[in-house]
Amino acid sequence: MKELILARGGESRYHIESCPGTEFAAGELAAYIEKICGVRLPETGDGPALRLLLPEGDAHAYRNAEGFVIEADGEDILIRGEGPRGVIYGVYTLLEDCFGCRFFAEDCELIPPAETLVLPGDLHIEKHPAFCYRDVFLATMSPACKVKNKVNASLPKDIPGGQYFFAESLCHTICQLAEMENVKTGEQPCLTDEKVFQTVLKNCRKWLDANPDAAVISVTQNDGYGHQGGCTCERCREIDEREGSFAGTMISFVNRIAEALEPDYPDVLVDTFAYRYTRKAPRTVRPRHNVVVRFCTIEACFTHPIESECRATEDSIYGTVSLAQDLRDWSAISGKLFIWDYCTNFSRYLLPFPDLFSIRENVNFFYKCNAIGVFEEGDYQNKVDGELNALRAYLLAKLLWDPDMDEETYRGHMLEFLQNYHGAAWEPVYRYILSLHERALRQHSGIYSYSPTIFGYEMMDLESTNAFRADYASWVALFDEADALADSDAVRHRLKLARLSLEVLKLCAPGVLSFLPEQITRERYYPKLKEMGIVFYREGFPMP
Ligand SMILES: [Zn+2]
Ligand SMILES: [Zn+2]
Repeated sequence: MKELILARGGESRYHIESCPGTEFAAGELAAYIEKICGVRLPETGDGPALRLLLPEGDAHAYRNAEGFVIEADGEDILIRGEGPRGVIYGVYTLLEDCFGCRFFAEDCELIPPAETLVLPGDLHIEKHPAFCYRDVFLATMSPACKVKNKVNASLPKDIPGGQYFFAESLCHTICQLAEMENVKTGEQPCLTDEKVFQTVLKNCRKWLDANPDAAVISVTQNDGYGHQGGCTCERCREIDEREGSFAGTMISFVNRIAEALEPDYPDVLVDTFAYRYTRKAPRTVRPRHNVVVRFCTIEACFTHPIESECRATEDSIYGTVSLAQDLRDWSAISGKLFIWDYCTNFSRYLLPFPDLFSIRENVNFFYKCNAIGVFEEGDYQNKVDGELNALRAYLLAKLLWDPDMDEETYRGHMLEFLQNYHGAAWEPVYRYILSLHERALRQHSGIYSYSPTIFGYEMMDLESTNAFRADYASWVALFDEADALADSDAVRHRLKLARLSLEVLKLCAPGVLSFLPEQITRERYYPKLKEMGIVFYREGFPMP
């Protein structure tokens, strides 16, 4: 088979030919090829080309298409995108799959140097995203790194590679849309009240007119922490009792909004939640074709896969079978399903969150349930890499692009990350991850769980606390081992950040790992956390 020699010995016959809309991708391709083999390919030339191509015709119509084909055409190499983002993803895929590059984090990329850059003459790679909406909502992953890993949501507008999804806001919008004042937590408007309907409709139009590029408008319930339900007036109750769920009134209401908006905004989707009191699917009402249901996994145990149904689920007043069953039920009636998933402990951002093995199975489950979008909400407030978040974000991005990834491939991504991010110190870090998850597997933990729940010890029980202390001591020893192996300042700094989790774990275990009350320990640790760049200790609570 003929080989295409892109560059050899510091020289190349190739140039990179772009077309309008592919300039950013062309710049990235040229820059990385130069980093790999030292040759800067020009934009024009007489020889063969790496050609970046877009479809003919109306650029607006295909602006959000993301599939691509990379193929050899004689001596030319074509990267043919379905839209501009498809070309960008095609470039990064060529760099990853053919040249061995990896984009682990903003400050950690693998760019294997090569004297000769070769592609097979029968090169053909074709990919289409499994989810159209992919959001890794963790502050530690920079926008540029997200784009390189094909995350397409929650990106600044000036970053090429993002899609603009939500008009104005992505969640808990009903308060603003219905112009509710002084809303108490968990309070919801009456969804069969015509005045509420007209007010929400008017404001939806206002938001959409102000955001003409938005693909989705969120009409979503107010937040609530318990299991407060919706309105229980006679009209609402009649619908919800018949439907066996508060989603009865919610979907009926959102369907009406979606129907009213459709003539003027035919491409816009109206999004609503299946969240807490609306989590259970209705019996007969069906979401319209332009309605997105965003199913939220907030009650899940994140240590084990959702499908294992390991945890008796908390229920709404209408009762619930299980989280997994509720998701399957929505999947059966909703053509457009988004998922809102969680990947941190929101009451202690740095507390170890043992989900690094369950996320693969969960994303796989979302895919099997025909979800078309996934939002992964993690620590969105600390940019520094606490609690292995750089690793978590990288793995999530990989999963959202390739949601039916098998375990071996997933493990391969994890090892590749650790070996590059922690260099010679990778192995003790990996053993720490394995040991931590192994211990956590014996219990169940949610996004607000406290340390005794996550790690299965009881304050007054000597046997369980001693066992936990022994594990804790072994984790500290693994970090000591990693520190001794660290071969650069960058790695030493990353280890210091990762170790903060053990210190927070200690302050969350007064009487077991520390003999001071949490408040005093916390005051002692705060300066250290702040020095390392931690600005939020828990969701919404800035460091004092
Ligand atoms: Zn009502
Ligand atoms: Zn569990």
